[in-house]
Amino acid sequence: MEDCIFCKIVRKEIPSQVVYEDDRVLAFKDINPLAPVHILIIPKEHLTNVLDIHEDNVDLIGHIHLVANKIARDTGIAEKGFRIVTNCNKEGGQIIFHLHYHLIGGEELRNFA
Ligand code: 5GP
Repeated sequence: MEDCIFCKIVRKEIPSQVVYEDDRVLAFKDINPLAPVHILIIPKEHLTNVLDIHEDNVDLIGHIHLVANKIARDTGIAEKGFRIVTNCNKEGGQIIFHLHYHLIGGEELRNFA
């Protein structure tokens, strides 16, 4: 997707603070963190949001959860607790229309928009 900000981050046309990368997934620090640890985990392939997930990408979605598991452990938030959030469409709070999972932790979490 030519104009998608997160596709540009995948292509390294926009800089980001990458914390994990493999052939299918990129994880990088959110530019406006809501907690001490706030990482966005995205598929490199452009999917719009959860509604765009089909049988063909079920394995990819499982892989994203394994990556979240690893990053939670590596950043030290696993034991105390963390949250994984994905917003879907406008009323769900989605601003960037490239599927992404917020991995948030490092403090006592309350409600996040
Ligand atoms: P959404 O509301 O779509 O679920 O969340 C989008 C997230 O992307 C927001 O938390 C926002 O701070 C983050 N974000 C938007 N643009 C950029 C960017 O250019 N770089 C990084 N690292 N994060 C971004």
